[in-house]
Amino acid sequence: MRERSGRAPRVGLFGGTFDPVHKGHLRAASAAVGRFGLERMHFIPSAIPPHKRATDMASAEDRMAMVELAVRGRRRFVPSPIEVRAGATSYSVVTLDEFRREAPGARHFFLLGVDAFCEIETWREWRRLLDLCRLIVVARPGAPLAAARRAVEPSLRSAFAEVGPSVRLGEAFLEAHRIFLFPIDALPVSSTEIRRRVRDGLPIRGLVPPAVECYIHRENLYRRPSSGKES
Ligand code: ATP
Ligand code: MG
Repeated sequence: MRERSGRAPRVGLFGGTFDPVHKGHLRAASAAVGRFGLERMHFIPSAIPPHKRATDMASAEDRMAMVELAVRGRRRFVPSPIEVRAGATSYSVVTLDEFRREAPGARHFFLLGVDAFCEIETWREWRRLLDLCRLIVVARPGAPLAAARRAVEPSLRSAFAEVGPSVRLGEAFLEAHRIFLFPIDALPVSSTEIRRRVRDGLPIRGLVPPAVECYIHRENLYRRPSSGKES
């Protein structure tokens, strides 16, 4: 699969719990699509996230529905039920295998925040994951990009590239690196904060798209007090 320009299509994958999806996610995805020239960005809610407790979470169906509402009308954003449908514990490397089977000629980019990246060495087959795709790592308020290099073994240091405003993302540059540190104007929003606000009866307007806000209220999500510690 080649574009007319002869360049491999660039496809983005954005995995997460999305409990719920929020404007910080949308901001990061838009920035990555624009800067890396991605043809599309697949939003992939996990079924049972391996790093989180399953209690206190909205159901996979609700998280999927909210992602669908959040991306509606955005041409390059695609909701992907691949992990939710599988139903089992989600591993990014397995999802990547699937996407590559479907589009073997594409160049895949996996988008993640620096907080998630810092745990990558605990992910299943993380080295193979790095062979299958390139990572776009974005900062979050309180989690600066500088933390990313320190989080992985020294042999990986040459895989990193900073994508400052003056860097041209040509084929040779993309070919030469695996982990792109991408500074964005990240929004200070987290799903944890949104769940907490709903539980406390506080407004969430502006933190999630209006359709997601309606869904949360209509379906009465996140109302019950949490029974334990949240991430
Ligand atoms: P929680 O508080 O439940 O952990 P979250 O806001 O971190 O939720 P996740 O679903 O855990 O959302 O995150 C999915 C991906 O999106 C992760 O790679 C995470 O780093 C990234 N991400 C989440 N919020 C932001 C944000 N505000 N800006 C940039 N990236 C973000
Ligand atoms: Mg998180």
